[in-house]
Amino acid sequence: MGEIKFAADAMVGKLARWMRVLGFDVAYWKRIDDDELIRIAEAENRIILTRDTGIAARRPDTRRCVLIESDHYKQQLRQVLDAFALTEFHVFSRCLECNTLLETVDKEAVFERVPPFVYLTQDRFAACPSCGRVFWHGTHADQMLARLDI
Ligand SMILES: [Zn+2]
Repeated sequence: MGEIKFAADAMVGKLARWMRVLGFDVAYWKRIDDDELIRIAEAENRIILTRDTGIAARRPDTRRCVLIESDHYKQQLRQVLDAFALTEFHVFSRCLECNTLLETVDKEAVFERVPPFVYLTQDRFAACPSCGRVFWHGTHADQMLARLDI
């Protein structure tokens, strides 16, 4: 189906973040009104993820809008992965803060941007070209994925 893209409403921020951990393109805003969310989702061909029955009622096609059932992010994530049979992940390829694709950077280049312990113990770093955050696939990442149990 090509690259699948999502737009998450303000109530599913944690879900949006976890989807980004797995590498999915998820637009998310802390505050956005229903009309704007739907407008952007349509303009950018994004599937809406929402807890709002009002939005879901306006977008009854479940291929274009998913009404998230659970309060818990793990079950929310499971619902979305199952709904679209998503089994391929690109873990830590996307900025968790701003959704931009990360660029691999040389270890030397991040020397002043990460904690010393991280620098000494990690070898793979990626930086966000948009907001400048640096990410590494270390024990934190492994713990996050273990918690996810997918
Ligand atoms: Zn970023």
